Amino acid sequence: NHGYIEVVIGPMYSGKSEELIRRIKRAEIAKQNIVVFKPRIDDRYSKEDVVSHSGDSVGAIPINKANEIYNYIDEKTQVVGIDEVQFFDEEIINIAINLADKGIRVIAAGLDMDFKGEPFGPTPKLLAVAEFVDKIQAICSVCGQPATRSQRLINGEPARYDDPIIQVGAVESYEARCRKCHVVYRDKK
Ligand code: ADP
Ligand code: ZN
Repeated sequence: NHGYIEVVIGPMYSGKSEELIRRIKRAEIAKQNIVVFKPRIDDRYSKEDVVSHSGDSVGAIPINKANEIYNYIDEKTQVVGIDEVQFFDEEIINIAINLADKGIRVIAAGLDMDFKGEPFGPTPKLLAVAEFVDKIQAICSVCGQPATRSQRLINGEPARYDDPIIQVGAVESYEARCRKCHVVYRDKK
C-alpha cells in the first residue's frame, strides 16, 4: 500500500476540522485502522476529540510533542490524522514523511498563516512535502467575501503586530477575514 501526505489549510472557521473529520469518518467506513492526534494546548471544547465549530467530532489523542505519535503507531496503522498541525514542533514534518514512507495515509489540518498573515510554524514545510494540499476559505466577517486570514482582536480592536500572545485582563477573539479587511497595526498605539 502507498502512503502519502494530505494537508488541509486555511484560516480559522474555514472548515479544516470539519474536512479532517469528514475524511476520518470515511476512512472508518472503509474499516481502516486510524489514529488521530491533536496538540494538548488546544482544548477549546474537549480534551479527547477533534471538534469542529459546527459540533462534529472524532476521537483524538492529545499529545505534547510530535514524537509521541510513534507510541501509538504499529504495523496495523493505515491512517494518521493530525489537527492544529501548526502548533507542533518542526519534527512533525519528518514524522509525516516517515509515516508516509511506511505506507500510511497522513491527513494533517491546520492554519497556514498566523494572525499577522505570516506562515505559521511547520505548516509551510509540510505543504512543500505533501502529495495533496487543499486550501480552503472561510467567509469574511466584514464583507462576506472568501476569507483567507485570521483576524486577531483584543477588546474588539485589531491586534498590533507585537501584541503579546497572552494579555492579562484583555478579551481576545478571532474572526475570519479576507485580505482587504484583514488589519494588523504595525506601529505602537
Ligand atoms: P476550522 O477548523 O477551520 O477553524 P471548523 O471546521 O471548526 O473550522 O468550523 C467550520 C464551521 O464554522 C463552518 O462550517 C460554519 O458552520 C462555522 N463558521 C462560523 N463562522 C464562520 C465564518 N466566518 N466562515 C465560515 N464558517 C464559519
Ligand atoms: Zn472582507
